[in-house]
Amino acid sequence: MIEMQSVSKVFRTDVVETHALKAFSLRIEAHEFVAITGPSGSGKTTFLNVAGLLEEFTSGKYLLDGKDVSGLKDDARSRIRNEKIGFIFQSFNLIPDLNIYDNVEVPLHYRGFTSAERRKRVTAALERVGLAQRMKHIPAQLSGGQQQRAAIARALAGDPRVILADEPTGNLDTTMSGQIMDLLEEINSGGTTILMVTHNPELAMRAHRHIEIVDGALAASRPGNRGVPEASAAAVASGAGALARAGATATIKAGAAGQPS
Ligand code: ADP
Ligand code: MG
Repeated sequence: MIEMQSVSKVFRTDVVETHALKAFSLRIEAHEFVAITGPSGSGKTTFLNVAGLLEEFTSGKYLLDGKDVSGLKDDARSRIRNEKIGFIFQSFNLIPDLNIYDNVEVPLHYRGFTSAERRKRVTAALERVGLAQRMKHIPAQLSGGQQQRAAIARALAGDPRVILADEPTGNLDTTMSGQIMDLLEEINSGGTTILMVTHNPELAMRAHRHIEIVDGALAASRPGNRGVPEASAAAVASGAGALARAGATATIKAGAAGQPS
C-alpha cells in the first residue's frame, strides 16, 4: 500500500538545511492500522505529508498502491491524493463559517461528482460518524469530539484507501479521544488503511503496529494489540489465492501469521 525506500526530505532556507527524513524506509500493507510516535520535531508530520502527497520528497523512492509517485507533477499528485487519501488533523481544520454538511462536501467539489452523488456521499459519511442530526450546525456549535467526527466524515466522503491522521486526539479529553479511536478502529475494520500519529501510548497500543520515528528515521516497529489486519488474516487462513480474489493488493510475506509484518 505504502512503500518508501530510503526517502529523504530536506527543508532548505537561506540559512538552514533541515533533514526532516533521513533514508526513511517503511512498508505498510493494505488494511493495516499503524500508530506513529516519536519526539516533537522528529519528522512524524513530514512523513505523513510525504505519504499523503501533500509534500514532495528530496530523494529516494515511494510506491503508493504499487505506483511510483516520485517526481509526479502537481496536478497528477493532487488527483491521486484526492482519490486515495483522507487527512485528519489535530485542530480539525474545518471551515468556521460553513456548516458541517458543506464542510464535508468541500473536497468532493474537486472530484467532478454530480450534485446527487455528492449529497449521497455527504449524507452517508455524516451518518457513519453519528452526526446526521447536526449537519446544519457550524463547527463552533459542536464539541471538539463532534468537530473531529465531522473532519473524519469529510475524509470518509471521498472513500479513501488510506486515512492519515496527525495527532487526531491531541485536542480532546480522554473520553472523546477514546470515542475517536473507536471510530477509527471501526473504519479500519471496513478495510481502510490508517496511519495515526499520536502522543498517547495507550492509543498507540491499540493499533496493529506501533512505529517510532526518531530524528527523521524509523527507530522501532513493533506489533500492537489489534492482532492481524483483516487481509493478512484471510491470507493466512486460506492461502494467498483468497487474497488475490478479494482484490487486495497487500503482499503477505511468509511468516505473517500472528503478526503484521
Ligand atoms: P514532528 O511532526 O515529529 O513534530 P515535523 O515533521 O513537523 O516533526 O518536523 C521535522 C523537522 O522538520 C523539524 O526540525 C521541523 O522544524 C522541520 N520542518 C518541518 N516543516 C518545515 C518547513 N516547512 N520548513 C522548514 N523546516 C520544517
Ligand atoms: Mg507533527
